[in-house]
Amino acid sequence: VTDDRLAAVGELSALARILPRLPGSPGTLLGPGDDAAVLAAPDGRVVLTTDVMVEGPDFRREWSTPHDIGFKAAATNLADIAAMGARPTGLLVALTAPPDLAVAVLEGIADGFADACAALAPGCAVVGGDLTMSPTLTVAVTAVGSLDDAQPVRRSGARAGDVVAYAGSLGRAGAALRLLFAADGTEAVAALRRERPDLLDEQLAPRPPLAAGPAAAAAGATAMLDVSDGLLLDASRIARASGVVLDLDGTALDHDVRAVAQALGVTDEIARSVVLTAGEDHGLLACFPDGAALPAPFRIVGAVVAGTPAVLVDGVPPAETAGGWDSFAPRRD
Ligand SMILES: [Mg+2]
Repeated sequence: VTDDRLAAVGELSALARILPRLPGSPGTLLGPGDDAAVLAAPDGRVVLTTDVMVEGPDFRREWSTPHDIGFKAAATNLADIAAMGARPTGLLVALTAPPDLAVAVLEGIADGFADACAALAPGCAVVGGDLTMSPTLTVAVTAVGSLDDAQPVRRSGARAGDVVAYAGSLGRAGAALRLLFAADGTEAVAALRRERPDLLDEQLAPRPPLAAGPAAAAAGATAMLDVSDGLLLDASRIARASGVVLDLDGTALDHDVRAVAQALGVTDEIARSVVLTAGEDHGLLACFPDGAALPAPFRIVGAVVAGTPAVLVDGVPPAETAGGWDSFAPRRD
């Protein structure tokens, strides 16, 4: 048995195994292998975002395969680029790994990045990165995107009379997380993965419809973000930035509520709370002028009305915002 630990293999040999797993893309003028990468900036502007995932608070290797870890790190960053109405063009990936980590794990993470780019943002690729040893496995990603002559879609442009629309699943990532927390031990997690692979993927390797981001910009979206912290909280960010009320349509969420109720075996009331507050859906919440042709798979989930910034469901503050939960309390944005 050969010693596959990072400390035994060494950084250079590990990189020599990882880099071939990361295909380039047409927009990559110069990819990994030099001091820095060179990307095309088609319209002269560059869209940038960054996000760090740390083992423990952000992912667990008892739940996530190495492929999942890479896939999700890519997906969350690609979603932030898409939520600006931009097209992702490149990812920089900085990894820190414990010396006893198998290089095979890093290969799996690289495969997850490559597969997420292919599935969620064709034409985007990992164009560079860094690898160093540390006691904690962390995956830090910087994503680059192009607006392709469109204007960036900010959170602040929603106007009374707009429709509120969503592209993606709601609550299913949160439902999967509940099942993972309830699963006792590796065997139970393995059984969950066997029995509910699609549901678990919503949490561990999400596939939000990110091509809808640039399509929304082209269709005249007035405000947009990706739902990372729960529908109510993220909707409140648009409401606050735009100075409007987002009134969500409860019946428009019924399909999501039923899916979560079925997945968890809970009442519709509990499922509705998961749909409204559980995060990590990473679908796109956007506002459009009334009558705009919504790009697929956007569906109308509410309306923008004038008033003191707030999020309502069927015209009233939802129960989830009572009882101490304050959608406008200072939070990590
Ligand atoms: Mg975001």
